[in-house]
Amino acid sequence: MSGHSVPFHCPYCGDEDLRPHEDGHGAWECRSCLRAFRLKFLGLLAPPTIGQVQR
Ligand SMILES: [Zn+2]
Repeated sequence: MSGHSVPFHCPYCGDEDLRPHEDGHGAWECRSCLRAFRLKFLGLLAPPTIGQVQR
């Protein structure tokens, strides 16, 4: 893999038999339920500022 996020489970049937879809980046297809879907990166989360974790 080259840094793209890889889904571990199909969001529809939960199967792990996923492979990249021909449609392009972030597109995956599930070989179990034969669905194609796209993952979209929405952005970074702000780091927690609650202050309860101190190391
Ligand atoms: Zn599936």
